[in-house]
Amino acid sequence: MAKVITRFPPSPTGYFHIGSARTALFNYLFTAREGGVMYLRFEDTDRERCKKEFEEDIIAGLDWLKIPYTSAVPLRQSERLSTYREYLRALIEKGAAYEAEEAEGGNGSTSLTTKGRVVRFKNPNTRITFNDLIRGDVSFDTTELKDFVIARNVDDPLYHMAVVADDHDMGVTHVIRGEDHISNTPRQILILEALGFERPVYAHIPLIHAPDRSKLSKRHGAVSINEYRSDGYLPEALVNYLALLGWTPPSGREKMPLADMVAEFDLKDVHAGGAIFDIEKLRWLNRQYILEMPDERIQAEIELRIPEKNSGIAAKLVSLVRERIHLWGDIDAMAKGGEFDYFFSDPALDISKVPGKGSDAATARRHLARLRELLSALPSLGNLEPEQIKKAIWDYAEAEGRGNVLWPLRYALTGKERSPDPFTVAAIIGRDSIERRIETAISALENRS
Ligand code: GLU
Repeated sequence: MAKVITRFPPSPTGYFHIGSARTALFNYLFTAREGGVMYLRFEDTDRERCKKEFEEDIIAGLDWLKIPYTSAVPLRQSERLSTYREYLRALIEKGAAYEAEEAEGGNGSTSLTTKGRVVRFKNPNTRITFNDLIRGDVSFDTTELKDFVIARNVDDPLYHMAVVADDHDMGVTHVIRGEDHISNTPRQILILEALGFERPVYAHIPLIHAPDRSKLSKRHGAVSINEYRSDGYLPEALVNYLALLGWTPPSGREKMPLADMVAEFDLKDVHAGGAIFDIEKLRWLNRQYILEMPDERIQAEIELRIPEKNSGIAAKLVSLVRERIHLWGDIDAMAKGGEFDYFFSDPALDISKVPGKGSDAATARRHLARLRELLSALPSLGNLEPEQIKKAIWDYAEAEGRGNVLWPLRYALTGKERSPDPFTVAAIIGRDSIERRIETAISALENRS
């Protein structure tokens, strides 16, 4: 069989977004499984709306997501105008296209900006049927397309002309693209047949909708890939999630690396119905990746995101952070909410809050004094472990009432009404801070009573 050649041909008229990335990914998965080549090319025939910065954003996004591709040479349609002109001329010579006044067949208005005459494709008015790998036979009566315009003038070919020329010259065997392009297909088939080109195989993948089935937009979460990057999603999790938008792997697995997706991917398992973008599912999946990350990776991210760089503490925060986040941005949110402050410096205490509900200052002071004794008996060398601290005080807490004992301890250590458990906090801040903070709380309680 001929080598599989596919293409990912975005129009650089906006930032790289979820839908586009998913199209690139499906093309890649299919191509890699077939041992083929996937070309990137930029469809910049709409010169006003296309921008260099969008091209750069698309490339940066593909690279960040680690979706492999081969750059077409030349990379842009704007660099292939002379080729398109040749095909256009060939069509005219064959009688398959003709020049006409722009208003012909239109609404009667003429454009003042048109320097020449438009080129219309001479529609044979046939029925076009193609077999879509996802949708089965798709059939269009092309009569209603009339003699559609394929060039602004003989020198200025329009989009469909360029796509057909590119796909042919690049030897594209499979066109895999969003369902929104399905109505372009009959036009493109008419043009390519008139030029005597071979038809590629088509597969139109379902559009991505918001959970309420509306068009995906900002309010359903970020749309541009770059935003996911800055929010602190992992590229491997995002790519994994994108693959599940419209595809169910036969194994039923959800979390899977790119190589496994390649091994399982088949266009026949792509659904024809719309895919639903669910940010919660993406967060969940991202968390699955974080749960399996090596400690050093999480430590590096903590060091990067918490300004009080204290590598001694960052290392100790790893498991606490891992347990509580879905994406790296959650570390920023925790830091902003002051959730790390007490790891770096002694908290300010509202002394009325030390005893906790149903207890009083004298009781709290008595418990804290006892806890200080129990904790000072811990071995004085090496890092403390939460379990070890728990063991040292648990019997006492059980005997005296857990809440009455553990609340004052946790509050004395953190100054917060909510925080991780006191054993975890104590192990992280270490002996000197434990001792000093309990002492501070005890003397404040003494001054008060
Ligand atoms: N340039 C089109 C887009 O960005 C893709 C067209 C195609 O795949 O044929 O949606």
